[in-house]
Order: sequence, then C-alpha cells, then structure tokens
Amino acid sequence: MKLVDLLFDRRCCICDKHIDSGAVCTDCNEKIAALADVRKRRLKIGERTFEVSYLFDYDNPVVQKLLFKLKRSSNRDLFRYAGKLYFKAVPEHFRGVVTNCPRGGKGIRNYGYDQVAVPCGIMCKESDGSLEYHRLVKRIGRSKEQKNLSLEQRKENTKNKFRIAKKDIPKNILIVDDVVTTGSTVNACILEILKCREDADIKVACLASRNTFSGK
Ligand SMILES: [Zn+2]
Repeated sequence: MKLVDLLFDRRCCICDKHIDSGAVCTDCNEKIAALADVRKRRLKIGERTFEVSYLFDYDNPVVQKLLFKLKRSSNRDLFRYAGKLYFKAVPEHFRGVVTNCPRGGKGIRNYGYDQVAVPCGIMCKESDGSLEYHRLVKRIGRSKEQKNLSLEQRKENTKNKFRIAKKDIPKNILIVDDVVTTGSTVNACILEILKCREDADIKVACLASRNTFSGK
C-alpha cells in the first residue's frame, strides 16, 4: 500500500468499505435511499399538537449504524450527506427558520461539533433561500444521556435545560433533531419557544423515529 493511500484512506461510514469520495459507498447509499420515506407523527403538548416528519424507522440496523456514526463524527462529507437527508424530511412548502435541539456540552466537548446543527446549517445554505438556520435555543446545565432513561426520567432530565438564545423569535419554525423517540427533548424545546412566542407555528423534522412514539 502506498503512503498516500494510508493518509487518505476513506471508508464508507456504514460498511467500512474503501471509497474514493463522499461518506457512504454506492451500495449503502442505495440501501439508505430505499429506506428513506417521509412519515408523519403528531406530538401532543397540552392542548396543541405538532407535526413531526421523519425518514427512517429507528429500529433498522442500517439506520442505527448511520446515526451512531453521525453522533460521533467530525466528517464534513458525512455532515453534508446528513444535510441532504434532513432536507428530505423538511415538510413540503415549509419556509422559515430551521433550528436544532442543542446537544449537551459533553457531546460537543467529546466530538467538537453539534452533529445536528452542522448538517442543518449546510442544508439551509444549500436550500433555495426558503430555509434559514438560526440557533433559537441553547442548553443550560447538565443533563444525562437520554438513551437508558424512562419516559418520566427523560422528562425530568430535559426540564428547565433549555433557554431561548435569540431575542426575536420568528413565526415559522422547524425544529430539527437526529432521533425523536419519546419526544421529551423536542417537547422541552417547543415549550421554551412558546414561552417567548405563543403564536409560533412550530414543526419538527428528524431522521428517525418509532411507531410506539408518544409525546405528552
Ligand atoms: Zn457501505
């Protein structure tokens, strides 16, 4: 093997096969394209319901591999790839501000990036001007990794963990996150936005969710 190959050894983020460009090999890209399908869920918060668009079933192993890599990545090509996927989940005719559920400080400290914010920023830049990225919400204090917590624990874990990061809250907002399962993180972000702008029209887009999803 030549030194140049070692230095620029590029591998598919899903199957680890050698590739010449991009983040995912042709085969894995085809698999992902075949799985991607815009589905809708409704998230109920108090008297209001919010539409959640998502592309993948969270339990699919290929999807989980992609999400796992995305969570631990600083790979610009993968962020661009994710940006294109997020774009597919944007509700039809949506125009407005895109923002993300901010990651906890630990995630950013470990990997250097907010793995939802970066792809969203790329997606908005590449849009026809209909999408504009703004950081509307910031995270405060410490919260635990959500994965192994019950619904009740998640609610407690995200309670009072978000604050508005911007003075003027726009009317049309799309909140983006990688995974929405119980919906507790998105729920907390929505509540924080509504505190500052009651008539905000909020929608949610994510990559993966589950059929058993319920948000209260
Ligand atoms: Zn592959």
